[in-house]
Amino acid sequence: MSSPPSVRVPLALEAREIGCVAGRLPGPTLIAIAGIHGNEQAGIKSARRVLKRLACADIDLRGEFVVFAGNVSAMREGRRYLARDLNRAWTDAKVADLEARAARFEGVSASLGRDQSVHALDAEDREQLEILAAVRAVMARARGSVYLVDLHTTSAYGVPFALFGDTAPQRAFVSALPLPIIKGLEEQVEGVLSAYWTRRGCVTFAVEGGQHHDQGSVDNLEAVLLLAAQSAGLFAVGDVEDAVAAHALLEGRRGSLPRFMEVVRRHAIAPGDGFTMEPGFRNLDHAHTGRLLARDRTGDIRAPHDGLVMLPLYQPEGDDGFFWGRAVASV
Ligand SMILES: [Zn+2]
Repeated sequence: MSSPPSVRVPLALEAREIGCVAGRLPGPTLIAIAGIHGNEQAGIKSARRVLKRLACADIDLRGEFVVFAGNVSAMREGRRYLARDLNRAWTDAKVADLEARAARFEGVSASLGRDQSVHALDAEDREQLEILAAVRAVMARARGSVYLVDLHTTSAYGVPFALFGDTAPQRAFVSALPLPIIKGLEEQVEGVLSAYWTRRGCVTFAVEGGQHHDQGSVDNLEAVLLLAAQSAGLFAVGDVEDAVAAHALLEGRRGSLPRFMEVVRRHAIAPGDGFTMEPGFRNLDHAHTGRLLARDRTGDIRAPHDGLVMLPLYQPEGDDGFFWGRAVASV
């Protein structure tokens, strides 16, 4: 497998809202967030295709489908983020702190002139405030359940997969995807956007669609959005023929991997550990009992039994060596 390209491709975006389609009848709302990491553009491209598809007159659309770009300023520079990772600051405490700071600077700027307030916040602060306002506005006008899908891609090539916070409505929503679905992974990372909106009453999942610059990732995320719209109830099963092809595409991408998996444990690492992952593992991969997974200064790290390696670390930064998981019958 060739190593993925590391390139910086700025994406010209005019506005945070990429598009919106509203049906004639009231119904559920589906919000897609694309590019909360600014170097992940496949979500924007896939969402544009789905907006176009759902706007066609042959679909009896209910409710609303709206797409927002995540980190607009980072995306315009082709970077993951400018000052901080925008997908790690969505705890209730951090959002409350951000809004308190914004209100304070707003007060100061009233006497000093508005420009002063803008400089008191970093790029991601401003992005996060705008996303909060945009999603809240959609929720305020919603006339049914609100669903939210967070679209990502990865630096490494691999099978796309979905992760979700374990609640009954989210289990039902994400199960519409014939991709590997991982339970217990979202909870391992603090401050992700999807978990924040779950706490605000949305039904959410996040999806990793494939490698950043692979055109196949756009196809994968397009299929995910179409199936999410169907699962949310924006159109009836059977109304959109493309949904059948979308299901077949993702089913094919999954290959021999199990449909449902759960994280058993996280192999955390620290700088002094001397951790090195064994080469050759994919983003999600089978490992039989005793297989050498990694090494550190204490020796070999082997598979304790038959299971699954998830998100092996092949880059210098990071404190997750890998996750160890297993297949389950359902989530
Ligand atoms: Zn991402």
